Amino acid sequence: MENKHIAFSPPDITEEEIKEVVDTLKSGWITTGPKTKQFETQLAQYCHVNKVACLNSATACAELALRVLGIGGGDEVITSAYTYSASASVVCHVGAKLVLVDTAKDSFEMDYTKLEDAITENTKAIIPVDIAGILCDYDKIFEIVERKSFLFKPNSEIQKKIGRIAVVADSAHAFGAHKNGKCAGEIADFTSFSFHAVKNLTTGEGGALAWRSIDGISDEEIYKEIMLMSLHGQSKDALSKIQLGAWEYDIVAPYYKCNMTDIMASIGLAQLKRYTQLLNQRKHIIEKYNQGFQNLPVTVLEHFGTDYSSSGHLYLTRINGKNREECNQIIVEMANLGIATNVHYKPLPIFTGYKKMGFNVQDFPNAYSQYENEITLPLHTKLTDEEIEYIIQEFARLVS
Ligand SMILES: *Cc1c(COP(=O)(O)O)cnc(C)c1O
Repeated sequence: MENKHIAFSPPDITEEEIKEVVDTLKSGWITTGPKTKQFETQLAQYCHVNKVACLNSATACAELALRVLGIGGGDEVITSAYTYSASASVVCHVGAKLVLVDTAKDSFEMDYTKLEDAITENTKAIIPVDIAGILCDYDKIFEIVERKSFLFKPNSEIQKKIGRIAVVADSAHAFGAHKNGKCAGEIADFTSFSFHAVKNLTTGEGGALAWRSIDGISDEEIYKEIMLMSLHGQSKDALSKIQLGAWEYDIVAPYYKCNMTDIMASIGLAQLKRYTQLLNQRKHIIEKYNQGFQNLPVTVLEHFGTDYSSSGHLYLTRINGKNREECNQIIVEMANLGIATNVHYKPLPIFTGYKKMGFNVQDFPNAYSQYENEITLPLHTKLTDEEIEYIIQEFARLVS
């Protein structure tokens, strides 16, 4: 047992991914091209939406969603204090004012009453975070933005068409999650997924943006705008430009560079074929953990219910009665036993960059107490049953 090495979230790469990447490498086209378009089509089918745009990260997806919406200086965007920095930093990237909301008591989700109170006439978007792969209460979020629509002042064509605050989900964890018969991607107005190396489905780095169709604006129009913004504002993509004699192009604005390559997309295509199986494996591990921790002073999340199922991305635990220091000690002891664990998340107001913006963690007491005793266990598809048993046994011993 001494020389065990259980990684936190290693990539699950098989011969299928390798074959698909080699095929791309040999094809003569390695940047954005046919494989990326094929991946987008398959993702759209998977999420039951008309169109999906692939980019080089979920962060780029969220940022471009805000830009497509025409959000910028003078606007406010609300997200949770309990998330990864990317949910919030994109608001700063577009020049809008970041508004953070505390979590509800004993919850990793935003406090929806505080969310409603945080809405002003400048609020243009809300970024709910589907922590651990469990979808937020979007029914409630939509109810709130509808109720507050009298305050809403659109300042772009698309905002006018939506007619209320836009819901831009950070679903970096939740690709493949369901609720009330709907998948992540077809619930919020815009949804960003991450395919970073540690996420459920990976392309090394990468992300996808899905959106619900908006009355009066074609999906193709939105897609074109995203493509333009992701490739310098160049009117033709690289593939069309290299067609013989078709060199000429325009630059419509000095935009950004965040396209997905066909090499990335080929990893994703193979992962997507395996994804149902990967989700089942995650469910199996979660059930084992839940069973193993039943009689311990540990609070865990409900990943599966009658009307929802999570993507099983992270196994968050809270060790009842322990503080951060004691939890850090458990993390060290787990590490000595060869088990990598993690903490999700340190609330954003604790970090230097957010403190400098004027946030103070004392204003987010619920988020702080979630963080106080949180430990995340390994949850990935390379775990063997023997390793799962070992983790349960050692974690149970350490928290008792
Ligand atoms: C990973 C992650 C992101 C960012 O994803 P990238 O693809 O690395 O940009 C955003 N939000 C959350 C909650 C994440 O965990």
